[in-house]
Amino acid sequence: MKTIGLIGGLSWESSAVYYKIINETVKSILGGYHSAKCVMVSVDFAEIEKLQKIEDWESQNKIMIQSAQQLENAGADFVILCTNTMHLCSDEIIKNISIPFLHIAKATGEKIKEKKLSKIALLGTKFTMEKDFYKDILSNYGIETIIPNEKDRNIVHDIIYKELVHGNINMNSKKAYQKIIKDLQNRGAEGVILGCTEIPLLIQPGDVDIPIFDTTKIHAESAVIMALK
Ligand code: GLU
Repeated sequence: MKTIGLIGGLSWESSAVYYKIINETVKSILGGYHSAKCVMVSVDFAEIEKLQKIEDWESQNKIMIQSAQQLENAGADFVILCTNTMHLCSDEIIKNISIPFLHIAKATGEKIKEKKLSKIALLGTKFTMEKDFYKDILSNYGIETIIPNEKDRNIVHDIIYKELVHGNINMNSKKAYQKIIKDLQNRGAEGVILGCTEIPLLIQPGDVDIPIFDTTKIHAESAVIMALK
C-alpha cells in the first residue's frame, strides 16, 4: 500500500471527512484490521482565508508548495490537496515536487464521464466557480460547466465561509442551495458538482433530483485506488 500525503486544514472540517472516507474505503477493500497509510500537513486556514480575500496567490503558492514538500520529505508516495479552491496552486505544486499529484477536478471529471453526462452545474467558492482552472479541466473530458447567476454565487460563497468551514449546518442554507441547484437543473444541468469540500456537509444525495458529484468522496476514494494500485 502506498502512503497518501494529504494537505489539509482547508478547512479541517472537510479534512476530517477525507481521513474518515480514506480509512473506511481501505477497510472495505482490504477488510480485517486494514487502515490507510497516510501523512497529513494541516495548515492554519485563517492565514489562507486572509490571502484568498486579497487574491494573493503567490503567497498561497508558497504555502502549498512548502506543505507538499513536507509531505514528500515525510515519505508520502503522492499528494492530494483536500480542497477545490486551492487547486489554483496545483501547477506550482506539481512543478516543485517529484512525487505525483492527484488533481481533484480530474478525479471528478473521470466520474462524470463514467456516468456519460455532458452538462454539469458547478457549486463552490467564487474562485472555483468564476475562474477557469476547474472548468478547463472538465472541458478536457467533454463536459460543459454551468454556474449560478451572480446573486446566487454570492449566496453559495458566503454560506461556505460563514457557516460550513466552521462546521455550522443551517436548514435555511440547505434550502437556499436546493433552490439554486433546481434553477441550474432548469437551465439544463444533468448533475451537480459539490465543488467545495464542505458542501457535502450540507447537501447529500436525495436532497436534490439530479446526480450529485461529491468532490470530497470522489477525491478521497480515488486516492485509495491510487494507493492500492
Ligand atoms: N474547502 C473549500 C473548497 O473545496 C473551500 C475552502 C478553501 O478556500 O480552501 O474549495
